[in-house]
Amino acid sequence: MRFPEHVDVAIVGSGPCGAAYARVLSERAPTASIATFEVGPLLADPPGVHVKNIASAQERARAQRLSEGPAPRDGAASTDTMDGYADDAPRLARPGTFLLPSGYRQPGEDGLPGAAMSSNVGGMGAHWTGACPRPGGSERIAFVPDLDDLLAEAERLLCVDAHAFDDAPFAAEVRKRLGAAIDAGRGGDRRVQPMPLAVRKDAGGRVTWSGADVVFGEPTRGNPNFSLHSQALVTRVLVDGDRVRGVQIRDMRDGTVHDVRARYVVVAGDSLRTPQLLWASGIRPRALGRYLNDQPQTVFAVRLRDIAPDPAAETDPRDKAEIVPQSGVSWVPFTDDEPFHGQVMQLDASPVPLADADEPLPGTIVGLGWFCAKDLQESDRIEFDDREGDAYGMPAMRIHYRLTERDHAAIEASRNAVRRAAEALGEPLDDAPLTFDPGASLHYQGTVRMGERDDGTSVCSPASQVWDVTGLHVAGNGVIPTATACNPTLTSVALAVAGARAIAADLTAERN
Ligand code: FAD
Repeated sequence: MRFPEHVDVAIVGSGPCGAAYARVLSERAPTASIATFEVGPLLADPPGVHVKNIASAQERARAQRLSEGPAPRDGAASTDTMDGYADDAPRLARPGTFLLPSGYRQPGEDGLPGAAMSSNVGGMGAHWTGACPRPGGSERIAFVPDLDDLLAEAERLLCVDAHAFDDAPFAAEVRKRLGAAIDAGRGGDRRVQPMPLAVRKDAGGRVTWSGADVVFGEPTRGNPNFSLHSQALVTRVLVDGDRVRGVQIRDMRDGTVHDVRARYVVVAGDSLRTPQLLWASGIRPRALGRYLNDQPQTVFAVRLRDIAPDPAAETDPRDKAEIVPQSGVSWVPFTDDEPFHGQVMQLDASPVPLADADEPLPGTIVGLGWFCAKDLQESDRIEFDDREGDAYGMPAMRIHYRLTERDHAAIEASRNAVRRAAEALGEPLDDAPLTFDPGASLHYQGTVRMGERDDGTSVCSPASQVWDVTGLHVAGNGVIPTATACNPTLTSVALAVAGARAIAADLTAERN
């Protein structure tokens, strides 16, 4: 029998948030049986590994294709660049993800043309950039009193480090220039600083990106009561009255259907598929799928001005076959006065030795990405159609999404802010910043949002338990109730920690 008949906790989805539940439960309730069900395939060992850690370009490309859902792109070429994904494509797609094929825009609305997902062990966490800023000001969830403690635990689980790339060329200069232009009037933790990244660098300089594998960690992998089942689609959460009873699974390998009884179920299937599964299960609180929000994203690129190779360096870095393992990433934090989140990435230059004196030095081409917080609307929502199936046979999705006048004003202000930041650094490479279509941020939130009380504007409690369904938890960016502009995964993992601690406490109390 491939699947267990009964577990204490069934987890749907193996991305960073599902993995956080498995990890915290393994640490705090080691005798509890836990099973994770993931619709996508296993990419490589350890389960949930970030594809950037796969050394072979061919294997890496294969892992990306495997993650791209029911209709992956063709070809085995490495997709370390965006070649073939964004070029001239009307909808921006990224390696390892697949776009929502239909229903992403309704007539007369803005829609979410960039809406995308990943189906693989590790979820999008096998493909992400790993930026893990803490939320600030109105991004924070005021009714979660121990948020900082939870964020610190999330940083531990994701192995977050703000200083892994301190030695990246010109990173200090980038921060100095940005700080001079931006820092006035900002509190200490909101000044320009290195971006906290989910990454480790060993003494030899080898960089390892954190995927769900790092969140699972040895405590989960070594837990004899934990099992992970790939290619297992959860089609339904089973409920008895007001109590969860288990999950129904379709084995993607042979189409057979199985019921697994569970005392607790955690749905961590991303912000689009978590509400889809609840809907498919007949669990349909008023706020389900509503308050959908994405972070409008604007990008710009500059070449640093007045930069010269370090006179103390033995060789010109352009002459090295291997340049820097990773360039610097800097952070312009969100504030309520300047409600944007800035991610500043120094791009790697070509590793080809150059004769051309004009070839940029490594680290001197800088990409700026500015994210805005959305003006939250209940009417921005994802609807599901029971009569039409998606490629997995789950209820088809239909997105209703509009940018308000306040959103348009915020986007314009963010374009001006990114221009000012670019001017502080150097010479822009384009005439004007580029604002992507909605959905490009890949940071969809709000669809299973938490609330302080069950007043119809939320789906779950501060412990992420779905109102009125005892034992059913939801996880992922969809749980975040505030309009954030910063990358959300750290916050989602922090909220998952709180939910997992609540289940562990219940299990322990029941056993005593
Ligand atoms: P996911 O990682 O999406 O995992 C959900 C999993 O659930 C998927 O594997 C899916 O297949 C599975 N699933 C869904 N439904 C079912 C079902 N019914 N049955 C079984 N399995 C199911 N975020 C940041 O914070 N910082 C960044 O720098 C950043 N950069 C990114 C860059 C890229 C290129 C991408 C693709 C994403 C980036 N993100 C970033 C987003 C980040 O990856 C996500 O926020 C994060 O992975 C969310 O974790 P999750 O566990 O909630 O969901």
